Amino acid sequence: MIDSFGRRITYVRMSVTDRCDLRCRYCMSERMTFMPRRDLLDFEEIVALTDVLIARGVRRIRLTGGEPLVRRNVMYLIEQLGSRIGDGFDEVTLTTNGTQLAANAEQLFAAGVRRINVSLDSLDPQRFAHITRRGKLDQVLNGIETAASAGLAVKINMMALAGVNDDEFHTMLAWCGARGFDLTLIETMPLGEVEDHRPERYLSLQDVLAELRQRWMLTPSLHRSGGPARYYDVGEGGIRLGLITPMSQNFCDGCNRIRIAATGTVYGCLGHEQKVELREILRQGGPAAVDAALDRLLAGKPQRHSFDLAQPATARHMSVTGG
Ligand code: SAM
Ligand code: SF4
Repeated sequence: MIDSFGRRITYVRMSVTDRCDLRCRYCMSERMTFMPRRDLLDFEEIVALTDVLIARGVRRIRLTGGEPLVRRNVMYLIEQLGSRIGDGFDEVTLTTNGTQLAANAEQLFAAGVRRINVSLDSLDPQRFAHITRRGKLDQVLNGIETAASAGLAVKINMMALAGVNDDEFHTMLAWCGARGFDLTLIETMPLGEVEDHRPERYLSLQDVLAELRQRWMLTPSLHRSGGPARYYDVGEGGIRLGLITPMSQNFCDGCNRIRIAATGTVYGCLGHEQKVELREILRQGGPAAVDAALDRLLAGKPQRHSFDLAQPATARHMSVTGG
């Protein structure tokens, strides 16, 4: 799959639910409403779609949400996708808030998952509860520990939030270093309405990097994880620091992905409304019709996002298209 700017699409972010057991302030509104369950693709439809995507050159799928591990029986889906690994399809990964990891880590590994991203914005229990509105830090830390023991490589995702966790970057880097986890910092993006005033929360990671460099030896790394992060090797510790900078440094030239919502709506870009609806096509049209719809999406895939923090770029939240 190649878009009209010559970018090859090999990576899919697949949201399996927009629901979540947390309500992180930068991501969702307190009174978030969710899509009706009957509108979601069922697992057979997701697997059929995945087979088309793999046939068209997709090498990696990241399951996300909402919280992927709150979708009922999601492990069945993960096993099905895991069984496709090999012959040009390289990996199934997961981005999770970690609340359900303790119960699922071993099965994830058994299903073929080898790497996961866990979102963790603070190591302070009260602050964590405040940011997530209903999360328990202990539960997530326990999940992370179980995942690492089960053999999953863990990368921590931390949103950089001015006035919220901007005094914790050193602590988080040290915590990750002690456990062998890579850490990726993320700039907040204006997706969907939330109660928080996003311009007030925004922190440029260029500034954070400058501050971190006062204490840490950070050497630019050639490592690429297939996503938009730029990486730095951290001292002698063997871990990497990644920066995802949608606001301060655009990375769209190298975009290699499309995003699929749990309803089968496929988006060309996180920051635009451009989309094709695949659910009815999957139900009635078959693989050739899916192919044609994907071609329409690729022909119209936007060149780049352009965000203005003061107003949402899209009505949909990150939890619909998945981070
Ligand atoms: N629930 C899972 C989790 O939290 O990891 C997966 C879905 S969540 C939407 C994926 C990632 O998106 C998380 O790392 C989260 O911090 C990030 N995220 C959510 N809202 C965001 C926003 N407005 N701007 C930038 N990143 C955001
Ligand atoms: Fe849920 Fe993830 Fe959004 Fe937090 S960032 S509310 S955990 S989907």
